[in-house]
Amino acid sequence: MTETYEVIVIGGGAAGLSAALVLGRARRRTLVVDAGEPRNAPAAHMQGYLTRDGMPPAEFLATGREEIARYGVELVRDHAVDVTGDFTVTLASGRTVQARRLVVATGLKDELPPVPGVAERFGRDVLHCPYCHGWEVRDQAFGVLATTPLSVHQALMVSQWSKDVTLFLHTVGAAELSGDDVRRLSAAGVRVVPGEVRELVVENDRFTGVRLTDDTTYDREVLFVAPRAVPQNGLLEKLGAEFRETPFGAYPVLDETGRTTVPGVWAAGNVMGFGEQVVNAAAGGYRAGATINGDLLMTDLDTASRV
Ligand SMILES: Cc1cc2nc3c(=O)[nH]c(=O)nc-3n(C[C@H](O)[C@H](O)[C@H](O)COP(=O)(O)OP(=O)(O)OC[C@H]3O[C@@H](n4cnc5c(N)ncnc54)[C@H](O)[C@@H]3O)c2cc1C
Repeated sequence: MTETYEVIVIGGGAAGLSAALVLGRARRRTLVVDAGEPRNAPAAHMQGYLTRDGMPPAEFLATGREEIARYGVELVRDHAVDVTGDFTVTLASGRTVQARRLVVATGLKDELPPVPGVAERFGRDVLHCPYCHGWEVRDQAFGVLATTPLSVHQALMVSQWSKDVTLFLHTVGAAELSGDDVRRLSAAGVRVVPGEVRELVVENDRFTGVRLTDDTTYDREVLFVAPRAVPQNGLLEKLGAEFRETPFGAYPVLDETGRTTVPGVWAAGNVMGFGEQVVNAAAGGYRAGATINGDLLMTDLDTASRV
């Protein structure tokens, strides 16, 4: 038995919950399907969201779930594993649900460099985003683990938060740095250390430095890494959405409301862009939800007036 809704939102992070809030308040029969694995789960605090700065991510999402429930939006903890062209969504539990419009807000996964210690400490003293954590670790001894020549940009950016920055070239050859890279690193006072990092040094549950394969260790208090972004876009692919390739993964082609190239399907949050912070994800979800409500209304009015 397939239950029907006006809108199904796949993903219940900031983007999906925000879309659902607008849709619920617009009296749309809405279902949120959420696997419950938000990207920022490893972090104890969420920064930079005006009026919620410092709030634990889990508390933020729990508040959002309470808010959508007030307007009759249903939320199911499940994984959407398949979708067809008529917007029938199959969940891992075997349940099928169908809707007139879809919001895909499935986020992205961070694939971390396979250096021992990085995964264990990610979100604590191994960080990726200075806007998320830079203020909290300001003026500490930073390391930056290079995994591509683009890591130079990260080293330059974090120098805004500390003047003690060491870039470990790790898998990047010194010859891969451009003349501009070398000039800017020097101007920012960033030290550059060639050689592969073997492991992180951790003492008393604190990151204290990195050890290279030649056994040299460098004392550091914080390590910035650049995870490979893996957008969770499999459902959009199944629906036949068009994508654009970026250095940070493939993201759907959208109009300014978040509408994909598949009529009736919107995307919001990190699945539509690597740089979407929580506040942007919530804004994108809101925009998608409001646009869908208007789209449904006009579609129904047009249908009724043509009869
Ligand atoms: C360690 C860390 C710290 C961060 N700190 C900050 C910060 O301080 N401030 C800030 O603004 N940003 C921060 N970010 C970025 C923040 O995580 C993202 O901006 C935000 O999570 C994007 O929201 P979203 O709704 O797009 O995705 P998510 O929050 O990742 O939510 C997506 C949801 O969709 C679910 N989902 C995925 N696929 C399916 C499926 N097939 N079926 C059902 N559900 C599915 C997931 O389980 C998840 O619950 C941080 C990121 C990391 C990694």
